[in-house]
Amino acid sequence: MSDFDVDLFVIGGGSGGVRAARIAAGYGARVTVAEEYRFGGTCVIRGCVPKKLMVYASHIHKDIADAAGFGWTIPAASFDWPTFRANKDKEIARLEGIYTANVDRSGATTLKTRAVFEDPHTLRLTNGDLVRAAHILIATGGAPNHGPIFPGIEHVISSNEVFDLPQLPKRIVIQGGGYIALEFACIFAGFGSDVTLVYRGDNILRGFDEDVRKHLRAEMEKQGITILTGCTVTKIDKHGDEFTSHLSDGASIASDQVLFAIGRHPAVANMGLEKAGVAINPANGGIAVNEFCQTNVPHIYAIGDVTHRINLTPVAIREGHAFADTVFGKRSVKVDYSNIPTAVFSQPEVGTVGLTEAEARAQFSHVDVYMTNFKPIKATLSGSESRVLMKLIVDATTDIVVGCHLVGHEAAELIQVLGICIKMKATKADFDATVAVHPSAAEELVTMRTPTARYVREAAE
Ligand code: FAD
Repeated sequence: MSDFDVDLFVIGGGSGGVRAARIAAGYGARVTVAEEYRFGGTCVIRGCVPKKLMVYASHIHKDIADAAGFGWTIPAASFDWPTFRANKDKEIARLEGIYTANVDRSGATTLKTRAVFEDPHTLRLTNGDLVRAAHILIATGGAPNHGPIFPGIEHVISSNEVFDLPQLPKRIVIQGGGYIALEFACIFAGFGSDVTLVYRGDNILRGFDEDVRKHLRAEMEKQGITILTGCTVTKIDKHGDEFTSHLSDGASIASDQVLFAIGRHPAVANMGLEKAGVAINPANGGIAVNEFCQTNVPHIYAIGDVTHRINLTPVAIREGHAFADTVFGKRSVKVDYSNIPTAVFSQPEVGTVGLTEAEARAQFSHVDVYMTNFKPIKATLSGSESRVLMKLIVDATTDIVVGCHLVGHEAAELIQVLGICIKMKATKADFDATVAVHPSAAEELVTMRTPTARYVREAAE
């Protein structure tokens, strides 16, 4: 290794890259991490964390609205975007500092620079310096899709810009039907903006359980969010500060901002991957890797969103950790991708783990579905129209609960714990044997006794 400058060069100081660098350095490896923008990456700087702060800020208006039914009189409340933005920026800068300090403390070296391949073992930095590394980890994440080029596309912002808007839009058009689009639709609605969501598919949240998709859409519409499906924005005109979005179905919508959240692509462009001989996975455009996150070039690995598999922070972190354990800790560690619990921080939240009803019916011959849709106790006095959905999918042959889907308050917190049950292969009998916590919404999970639907697949001839 002595003719290399470092044992490991990590490209990208986001969730996955930072974890990998710290763990590898802990094993005694000489590690350098290059970050071209800000340490912390998408999650900390312009993803999960600032988004969650916006969710909290925007949700407060609902608590204020609920208060009257409980006897509170609250003088007309107002929200100041610049104050929130400044507080949020301070917190993000604090976290960025912690990320950098943690890497430094691990013994790895941080560089604020872009790094691209010069050859399979050499990286070129922005200042022209070359670094030779025995192993290289590509952890460059992803970037928002911009969609097709059409007249006025330059007026569209993405999730990269949405956190730093100079002012809150009174009216916003959001194109997209995935979790990021829905989260921002609810955030802006909470801030009092007039929100129109435009989505080309037939319903939001493609890939989620059908009942979740229907329930969340209805809940969002109850809050006054307009959801237009089966159409796309095809042209945008700007007149002064106002934008007019023209839709494929002939309609047009005026707004102060247009946000596209139409998916993300892996950050593989202009990286010199061809000089290193690193192959792309033709199925998804990400870097092709095996179960140990190793590319076709044996000393080059890739983790996180740049592989475009399951694009979530905890997955990138696990992959980074497993890579460092495998390569520098000398013990082969694979990430287990089964039953990963996830949440959508819409309002209300969605929490999901395991199979959807459709997936379970395709996989098992006997499937029982337990579903309840109810008004939570808080909504009785608050007068809120919001309803909760809870759904358990059971492989009726083994009685194992193979899927759990929630829409409602704190669904994200609940699904983390339910994820443990599903991971441990809890049976419906285990759920039934658990005494309820009363009064709570979650008690419904252990009190559903009769299947709402039961499917038996006919034996094949
Ligand atoms: P990143 O965190 O994207 O880090 C990659 C880093 O590499 C970046 O900092 C980039 O600047 C740097 N880089 C790129 N190219 C180079 C180069 N050539 N040289 C040097 N540096 C380079 N996930 C969740 O689990 N929960 C959520 O609630 C959630 N919400 C999200 C909300 C939004 C709006 C977005 C956009 C994403 C969200 N995600 C969420 C996804 C999550 O942010 C990503 O899955 C995660 O950040 C991926 O980590 P990573 O290490 O692969 O890449």
